[in-house]
Amino acid sequence: MKTILMIMIASSFLNFLTALPARENMVNAQLIRRGISHPSVLSAMRKVERHKLVPDNMRRRAYDDSPLPIGYGQTISQPYIVAFMTEAILPEKNHRVLEIGTGSGYQAAVLAEIVSEVYTIEIVKELGERAKKDLGELGYGNIHVKLADGYYGWSEHAPFDAIVVTAAAEYIPPALVEQLKTGGRMIIPVGSNFMVQQLVLVEKTEDGVRTRSLMPVRFVPFTREK
Ligand code: SAH
Repeated sequence: MKTILMIMIASSFLNFLTALPARENMVNAQLIRRGISHPSVLSAMRKVERHKLVPDNMRRRAYDDSPLPIGYGQTISQPYIVAFMTEAILPEKNHRVLEIGTGSGYQAAVLAEIVSEVYTIEIVKELGERAKKDLGELGYGNIHVKLADGYYGWSEHAPFDAIVVTAAAEYIPPALVEQLKTGGRMIIPVGSNFMVQQLVLVEKTEDGVRTRSLMPVRFVPFTREK
């Protein structure tokens, strides 16, 4: 019993010691080198314990330069994509941000390090519940998780300063545009499951909506409640 406890303590200490340099390497090699420069995005990426938000059997690969499976056919995005999308919305301390597609909760945690409130919606019940529990254990009191179809947004808390959609939609859901503040930004992968998708930046202005494709991406599909 005592030995098992000792081994457990030693292994969590070892985890802690190895996770720190792994995150620092990730930030330098995968983010800064590729042009991510927003200081609060970089410090959030340095801080969030990604290895605690992936399934146990993926922990060793948590800081790899790739997406990883998180169960239920879903994935946690590659660190660079998370940083890129976070930078694209120009997050500020006082912002309230809506995320569609909680998944592992990692993108929500990165946002929560920077902005004041994060509202995140997940359609797969098991994933939403797991993320809620994990984010609670990590102490994120400013993340609110809802289990629902994110197509309709979260009108009770609208309008949002920014919206981050992490599943690929065939078109931009109108409710999300409505729930975005004037002057606000939304980042969303658009395209079908079988074609190249584009990461689209939506800017809502006084005279309408401006969209720009930023780069080709590959995301899991935006699904709809039956
Ligand atoms: N942001 C996540 C990425 C998860 S992948 C992370 O950091 O780990 C995309 C997620 O979007 C999946 O968990 C999927 O179940 C969810 N999703 C797909 N369609 C959705 C919808 N209509 N509403 C809410 N979530 C949705």
